[in-house]
Amino acid sequence: MSELYYKSTRSDSAPVTASQAILQGLARDGGLFVPSAIPKLSVSMKELASMPYQEVAYQVMKEFLTDFTEEELRSCIEKAYDSKFDTEKIAPLVKVEDMYYLELFHGATIAFKDMALSILPHLMTVSAKKNGIKNDIVILTATSGDTGKAALAGFADVPGTKIIVFYPKDGVSPVQEKQMVTQRGANTHVVGIHGNFDDAQSGVKAIFNNRELEKELDAAGYQFSSANSINIGRLVPQVAYYAYAYAQLLAQGEIADGEEMNVVVPTGNFGNILAAFYAKNMGVPIAKLICASNENKVLFDFFRTGTYDRNREFILTSSPSMDILISSNLERLIYRIVGENSAKNAEFMNELSKDGRYTLNEDMRGQLKDFYGNYTDEQGTADVIREVYQNAGYIMDTHTAVAVHVAKQYRKETGDTRKTVIASTASPYKFTRSVMSAIDQKYNDVEDFALIDELNRISGVKIPQAIEDIRTAPVLHHTVCEKDEMVDVIKKFLGVQ
Ligand SMILES: *Cc1c(COP(=O)(O)O)cnc(C)c1O
Repeated sequence: MSELYYKSTRSDSAPVTASQAILQGLARDGGLFVPSAIPKLSVSMKELASMPYQEVAYQVMKEFLTDFTEEELRSCIEKAYDSKFDTEKIAPLVKVEDMYYLELFHGATIAFKDMALSILPHLMTVSAKKNGIKNDIVILTATSGDTGKAALAGFADVPGTKIIVFYPKDGVSPVQEKQMVTQRGANTHVVGIHGNFDDAQSGVKAIFNNRELEKELDAAGYQFSSANSINIGRLVPQVAYYAYAYAQLLAQGEIADGEEMNVVVPTGNFGNILAAFYAKNMGVPIAKLICASNENKVLFDFFRTGTYDRNREFILTSSPSMDILISSNLERLIYRIVGENSAKNAEFMNELSKDGRYTLNEDMRGQLKDFYGNYTDEQGTADVIREVYQNAGYIMDTHTAVAVHVAKQYRKETGDTRKTVIASTASPYKFTRSVMSAIDQKYNDVEDFALIDELNRISGVKIPQAIEDIRTAPVLHHTVCEKDEMVDVIKKFLGVQ
């Protein structure tokens, strides 16, 4: 098997191995790691159709993580995709009306981030061992809600690691906040910051680039890594479920071998849809990559005009995990469409941080034709939830509803009737209040846990363990800080002065 290397999107510095890229998270120059080429699958879709999730994951991931031995990678996969998931299918594909819902929320924290974050800690500890690392690894994460809990659950009590999560104090749902501040594990820390998600993410990025702090921590036996979706160890496991989705369509006789499907992804940081783009380039028969946004529609405007412009009002919506104005993973796509020219990409990223915008030329725009972008407002989101419930009895969460609305717009606009897979990114139980209010205004005044019981009654879907847990769990994390206090907070947690 040929060796794959990872290089930065912002300079032509020496390439690193997959395990080194996983450990570092972000490249030294502030760029993101990308594979030297997107590898091809070495098995056919037909072969994948008879494999369980774990085997599909292995077939996809081995092509990207070429410095892992078969034994190492299989062991990581086995530890990740086990009974923490409430179905053996791990990511079941459910047909409702004329859409296929790829349910990515059957893991420990009932959102799609579990798909990657249940395996990342194992990829990371194997990577540390391979590279002779003695320091403890400190995972630093900014979250818009779901990443935080999924990372905490993944890393809690994993030896040789600590995890510190920053979230926007007033920018996550009550359930999301309760899930994080009740996290057990002596190596876990959770901090609310006064600011929005972009503030938290910019703060974390600055800390990763703070060489002085890096030296201080190294002297104390620590080094940072990232569990954010910029880590290549997050992206690679996500490619697997798009291959699995196609394999399921084939296995269930819903699609002819080689016939292309469309995928629709409710998008925030652009990680999930980029994984679909990688899957397409690996050989999974995908036609359109449909990018669905909420009212923070930076990406819709970008696909329509070729200008990425974050200078706009930040809107809090009922799909908070998509309330994002800087989609970090888009940089990996930009790097590709500027012809893997790191200087050109770096120029765009500098413009983005200086002026908040950059514009592609016509040639570059032409390379975005695999993508289609659209967005949905709050009313459209609620309407989809209510209509699909009334017509088919299926209840979806707010993020998934944004995707379904956009899928319908796309069909109407283009007449494209290809089989459509919706990336269903959260359980409706994670956003019970918004979901139930969408179904009927009469639920507006019902108290939180009564509402959960009512959702259980009308959907017939079992209440997930993650929700049962927070009914009674005590709050263990109380720290709140300003956005310029993040470094001090970290030092205090680690006992570094
Ligand atoms: C994180 C998240 C998204 C957005 O995914 P990206 O990879 O950031 O684009 C969508 N829905 C839910 C429920 C999420 O948690």
